[in-house]
Amino acid sequence: MIINKPMMKSRSKIIIVPIGDLDFFQINKLAGRLSEAFTSPVDIIQGAEPPEEAYSPARLQYFSSVMLGKMERLKANDKEKILAIVDEDLYIPTKPFVYAEADPYAGCALLSLYRLKQEFYGLPEDDKVVIERVKKEATALIGYLHLARYCRNPRCVMYHCNDMSDCDAKTDKFCDNCTRLLSGK
Ligand SMILES: [Zn+2]
Repeated sequence: MIINKPMMKSRSKIIIVPIGDLDFFQINKLAGRLSEAFTSPVDIIQGAEPPEEAYSPARLQYFSSVMLGKMERLKANDKEKILAIVDEDLYIPTKPFVYAEADPYAGCALLSLYRLKQEFYGLPEDDKVVIERVKKEATALIGYLHLARYCRNPRCVMYHCNDMSDCDAKTDKFCDNCTRLLSGK
């Protein structure tokens, strides 16, 4: 059985931070989805610009850990979970790219839309596909901020995707085990 809504004991607020020129309508829809999935209030902070100091001209990418470090300063208290969403491509020095980065101790996560888009793979634009991917990955990141772990069940939304076929194959729901673990948070 798959349950969608873990009943969180202490409801931590989720703060979405759009970085760059993002579709506000889609961000609003994502806020609704996260609020429902975590039974948490969700705020959207006024959009920010990608920080210049995180940009690598040599790689044409943004260093995700630098961006994530800046996000932590936006927190009003320890209970808030910050999710920044950016259109740019992200990297860490040991990898050619990352889809996202999350720090459960800081309560901050960063998700890039860059490689979630079909056109990145030379395919026609498809908003529906992208929105589903964003919803799943954003849910997984907020879940990770709560649990500091991903899930080994490839159908669970908390499954850590290695590529977009993993993401498309998983559901947008928590498995029983993740539902139980999140209920204790
Ligand atoms: Zn799970």
